[in-house]
Amino acid sequence: MPLPKAELHLHVEGTLEPELAFELAARNGVTLPYADTEELRKAYLFDDLQSFLNLYYELMAVLRTEQDFADLADAYLTRAAAQGVRHAEIFFDPQAHLARGVGMGTVVEGLSRALSRSERTHGVSTQLIMCFLRDESAESAMETLEAARPYLDRIVGIGLDSAEVGHPPAKFREVYEAAAALGLRRVAHAGEEGPPAYITEALDVLGVERVDHGLRCMEDPELVERLVRERVPLTLCPLSNVRLRAVDVLEDHPLPAMLEAGLLCTVNSDDPAYFGGYVGDTFHAVREALGLDRERMRDLARNSFEASFLDHDEERRARYLAEVEAYEFG
Ligand SMILES: [Zn+2]
Repeated sequence: MPLPKAELHLHVEGTLEPELAFELAARNGVTLPYADTEELRKAYLFDDLQSFLNLYYELMAVLRTEQDFADLADAYLTRAAAQGVRHAEIFFDPQAHLARGVGMGTVVEGLSRALSRSERTHGVSTQLIMCFLRDESAESAMETLEAARPYLDRIVGIGLDSAEVGHPPAKFREVYEAAAALGLRRVAHAGEEGPPAYITEALDVLGVERVDHGLRCMEDPELVERLVRERVPLTLCPLSNVRLRAVDVLEDHPLPAMLEAGLLCTVNSDDPAYFGGYVGDTFHAVREALGLDRERMRDLARNSFEASFLDHDEERRARYLAEVEAYEFG
C-alpha cells in the first residue's frame, strides 16, 4: 500500500498519455502528426520548456467534448489513486481551450463529471483550480474569470502558470483582487525559472496562500525565513525540474536543504505524462536520489494535507493526517 498523500500541483492537461491522445483523436476526427503512440511517446522526450509547451498545446487539439475532459480526469484519478493519492487539487488551463473554440462550460462540466464521482470510484477527494496563462494578457485573464462565473461553485481557486520569465505576478494584480472578492483561493507558479522576487511579489501583490514551485527562494535567505515564519506551502515538482532543466539531475535537487530550512515543502508531479512519473513515482524517485529516510517521506505526506485547501472540512483533513501517522513503510 502506498503512502497516503495529497497532490496539489497537477495540470490535468499534462496527464494526457499518448494512448488516450490517439483514442480521443480518433473519436473526434483529429489527425495527429504522429504515426502511432510509439512515435508520439518519443516526442515526449523533449529537452526544453519551449518544445514541451509546443507539444502540450498541440495535443490539446484532441480535447473537444465534455466526455473528453471527463475521460482525461478519470484516467488521471485512476493512476493517482493507485499511487496513494487521497486528495487532489487539480489545475486546468481554460484559455488554452477557449482559444480553440472549446467553451468554459464544456471544460468545467466535463472535468466535474469525473471529479464529482471520484470519491466513490477512486477514493480520492478533489478540488479544481483554474489557472491563467501568464504569457497571455491581464485582460484575457480577466475575461476568463468572467467566463468562469457560472461555474464558480465547482472552482475552489485560481492559479498562474506557463512561461514565467518576463511575466511578473504584478501583471495580474487586478484579476487576483477580483478573484479574492469572489471568495476564491489564490496560488501562483513563482520562482521556478523566475527570480525569488517573483515569489515575494506573488505573496504581497497577488495575496497567494501557496507558492507553486518556489524553488528559487533558496537564493534569498530572508525570503526563506519569511516563508518558514508564515508557513507558506511550496508545491515542488522535482521530476519536472529535471526535465525542464531547473536542476541538472535529481541528486542536485534542493529539497533536502529546503526541508532542513523548515520550509513547508510538498512533492507533486506537475505534468506527469510528460515528466516521467506520477506523484507516487516522484516520491519514490526523490527518496532514492536524495536519500530521504522514512520519517522525511512521512513529513512530505503530512505537509501535503496540511497545505491542502481542506479548511471547509477539517474532519477530513484530520482523517487523512491520521492515515499518514498510522502508515507503516514496507
Ligand atoms: Zn506547474
